[in-house]
Amino acid sequence: MPIQKNQIATFQYRVNNGEGKLIDQSEEGQPLSFLSGSEAILPKLEAELLQMEPGEKRELTLQPEDAYGPHKAELVQKMSRSQFPEDAHVEPGAQFSARDQHGRQFPFVISELNGDEVTIDYNHPMAGETLTFSVELLNVREASEEEIAHGHAHNAHHHHHDHECSNCGKH
Ligand code: ZN
Repeated sequence: MPIQKNQIATFQYRVNNGEGKLIDQSEEGQPLSFLSGSEAILPKLEAELLQMEPGEKRELTLQPEDAYGPHKAELVQKMSRSQFPEDAHVEPGAQFSARDQHGRQFPFVISELNGDEVTIDYNHPMAGETLTFSVELLNVREASEEEIAHGHAHNAHHHHHDHECSNCGKH
C-alpha cells in the first residue's frame, strides 16, 4: 500500500551525477528516515518513494530544476583573502558560512584561490547537476505523536538517553 500522511519511511540511497560519478550515499547501516509531507527530502524523490513497497528498489533521474536548481552565476563572487580570519583554512573545497543581520546562515564553498583573490560559490553543491538516485525503500511505519508534533522522524536510539530531541531540541 502506498505511504499515507504521517508515515515514517526509511530508505537507503546512492546519488550519481550526470557523468555517472557517485556523489552522495547513505552510510552503510545508516539509512535515512523522513516524515511524509514534511519536505525533508526532494519532493520528486519523496513522491517516488511514496509509491514504493518496502523492499523495492528503484532508479530515478532528476533534472536540476527538480533537484537543487540550476547553477547561478550571480551566486559566484570574489573576495579577498584578508576578508577571512587569519587562521581560516582558505583553500579550494573549504566550506564556510556567512551570516546576515537576521542571523540567517548562507553556506558557501571556496571554488578557486588565486593569490589574494578568493572565488566563493553560494550555490548548493549539487546545483546544476542532473542526479540519478538509486533508492531502496526499507520500511514504513506510523509516525509517533511526538514525531508529528516535531515535524520530523526520530531515531529510536537517540531518545532513551535524554528527554530533549537530539534533532531539534524540542521536548
Ligand atoms: Zn524532534
